[in-house]
Amino acid sequence: MKSAPNLEDYATTYRSFSWNSVRRELDWFNHHINAAYNAIDRHTSTWRKNKVALYWHGEDDSRKKFTFEELSIASNKFGNILKDFGVSRGDRVFLFLPRVPDLFFAFLGTIKIGAIAGTLFSAFQEQALLDRLANSDAKVLVTNSELKKRVDKVRKKLPGLAHIITVDTDDYKKSFNHASAELSIAHMDPDDYAFMLYTSGTTGKPKGVVHTHRAILQEYMTARWVLDLKDEDVYWCTADPGWVTGIAYEILGSWACGVSAVIYEGRFDPKKWYEILESYKVTVWYTAPTAIRMLMVTDSNLLKKYDLSNLRHLCSVGEPLNPEAIKWSKKVIGLPFHDNWWQTETGAICIANYPSMKIKPGSMGKPIPGLTAAIVDDHGNEVGPNKEGNIALKPPWPSMMKTIWRRPLKYKSYFINGLYISGDRGMRDKDGYFWFIGRADDVIKTSGERVGPFEVESALVAHPAVVEAGVIGKPDPLRGEIIKAFVVLEKSQKPSEKLKNELSLYVKKHLAGHAYPREIEFIDKLPKTRSGKIMRRILKAKEMGLPIGDTSTLEEY
Ligand code: ATP
Ligand code: MG
Repeated sequence: MKSAPNLEDYATTYRSFSWNSVRRELDWFNHHINAAYNAIDRHTSTWRKNKVALYWHGEDDSRKKFTFEELSIASNKFGNILKDFGVSRGDRVFLFLPRVPDLFFAFLGTIKIGAIAGTLFSAFQEQALLDRLANSDAKVLVTNSELKKRVDKVRKKLPGLAHIITVDTDDYKKSFNHASAELSIAHMDPDDYAFMLYTSGTTGKPKGVVHTHRAILQEYMTARWVLDLKDEDVYWCTADPGWVTGIAYEILGSWACGVSAVIYEGRFDPKKWYEILESYKVTVWYTAPTAIRMLMVTDSNLLKKYDLSNLRHLCSVGEPLNPEAIKWSKKVIGLPFHDNWWQTETGAICIANYPSMKIKPGSMGKPIPGLTAAIVDDHGNEVGPNKEGNIALKPPWPSMMKTIWRRPLKYKSYFINGLYISGDRGMRDKDGYFWFIGRADDVIKTSGERVGPFEVESALVAHPAVVEAGVIGKPDPLRGEIIKAFVVLEKSQKPSEKLKNELSLYVKKHLAGHAYPREIEFIDKLPKTRSGKIMRRILKAKEMGLPIGDTSTLEEY
């Protein structure tokens, strides 16, 4: 039987909700808290003690599972190992590992002793590692023998890095086995730092965003409201903890709900992904538009081979979700993807489509209860409905970043007129739904009109010949900028001038006369971050023959 969504009535909850009411749902030590304790350990004094928290699926198809109690013990042991190394509150412990169980033990154990956990995506190369480990002045790095080789190459330049823990060595395994399973949990001020990580680098040099223990309040509530997590769910978030989605909704918020989570170590692969959805009987699935677009163009017969009937709720984040993707999932899975918007800096979901609310395809939905969002001009004044402006949030909210590590001025630069300015442009319609237009830097000004790349890309993606598109403004003496589209075609399609014209006309017809791409270039692959976001700044720099800037998060392409 289908049970009611956790957030049954958005409008009423939005009007009456206060964050104080969440306090009671989490465990406090007087006025202190520990985020990792709330994610894992508090369940061990309930019936969830022996419930599976983690179904781990290796790249080689090996399987392991861990109960909440087992995760509690493993992370206690890791906390004790850190203490033996002299790690104390506030020290930075960085994790450079693939999605293996040790990564989760280490993240939780670090936070439990009051140190600051930092994550590094396992594909980072030397320069990316050096930048992040030097900026954060990490004291400990946790890695494996393979990845350690990259760190060794830059170690000399990291005088603050006192210890490297290599989790696949016999020495480490021995010390893990001998470590005490008992740990006294650090009682933290809600404003104390819990974790930090660097942004995706889509628009420029990644920023070291720092989050507090208090963030768990919003991570937990949004996992309930937006992901709709319930005790009977099997939940799969495909993100990597090197990015904020993997921290907030693969570790902290989702486990705070007591859910059984699947974690797959391997990379994106349509067949593998469908196998995982089927064999673990996944009910709630949280993924990203880039993966959805890739699934949309894989042979539709593949999907038909799998039983995905346990799925009941689908969510997407990280990039604008093309309406075509929602159409697709409704058709082939029988469920729409629910888009939601947030940033590394916001620490948790801020604007979302809820299971109980009507979806307007292409819209990010409405702000979560307990948060005020607005569309404002560059001075922080609200603009009216259907007008383009900055997507802004009213501070504070529980998971708001505490600072940008060692860049106080950068932190300050986010705020105008008492509002947090996200750097994204959007608009709000008369019904209160928010629509994403583009990153502030990506919005195109053509013949006096402003055009968001997302709508042009979505119009192109709706054409059957197109897999993906990246759209930029190209300087033009006459029009200021013209719209240029880089288009990836379906395998069976042959690039031709005729097809270019057809695509231009298609956008003209389906979107707007002024918003069609005057120039189209077919390319094999779009430049993307390792978290799957289209890097329009690289398309633009290449087009204009300019330096391409920080490429530490660029996927090989
Ligand atoms: P950087 O700040 O280093 O340039 P980034 O902004 O991509 O990188 P993240 O914090 O990982 O780093 O991503 C947040 C951004 O992702 C948002 O500001 C927005 O541009 C985009 N985004 C996330 N979710 C959505 C969504 N649902 N719709 C549209 N855009 C989204
Ligand atoms: Mg950003």
